[in-house]
Amino acid sequence: MQFKKIDLPFEYDALEPYIDSKTVDIHYNKHHTGYETKFNTEGKGTELDKYDSIEQVMINYDSISDEYKKLVRNAGGGLINHNFYWSQFVINRELTPEELENNNLIKEQFGSIQNFKDEVEKEGLSLFGSGWVWAVKENNKIKIIKTINQENPWMSKMSNVILGIDVWEHAYYLKYQSNRKEYISNIWHLLPFK
Ligand code: MN
Repeated sequence: MQFKKIDLPFEYDALEPYIDSKTVDIHYNKHHTGYETKFNTEGKGTELDKYDSIEQVMINYDSISDEYKKLVRNAGGGLINHNFYWSQFVINRELTPEELENNNLIKEQFGSIQNFKDEVEKEGLSLFGSGWVWAVKENNKIKIIKTINQENPWMSKMSNVILGIDVWEHAYYLKYQSNRKEYISNIWHLLPFK
């Protein structure tokens, strides 16, 4: 079984000026490809072959043997996380009914979209080192969580992910240098939370 990264669903410059085309190019073609290659190369011919998708690998993380857990967590995590990352951006389209419904839930739960964004930003800034900030929907509740390195919500069996911000420096360093705060505050321009 080959576990594939998604095709980039837009041109390299589609996220400008908030995420620059060079960052998209390197992030997708070097980093994302690197996780994909490592996961497939080292996972080939192992127990991981029995899963149909990278989502299934992650959801079953607890039952994967210790020998492969690190590969799944790091390279597998990098693969699934970036598949989600590229898929979530809203470029020249209306919000879907589900996205509108999520926004209503957020307003009910957090008081406003701005409060939700503030909370996400706070989590993103308090994350030491490399990792991700996520929002997931479970039983009609929106939860903000953060994970270190390439760990992710799917590993904890939370598969209804509605937001995933990569806060590794490689996601923003060329344009923002070490200013993670500015990267996060600009990324909202590209996301379905209005
Ligand atoms: Mn990344």
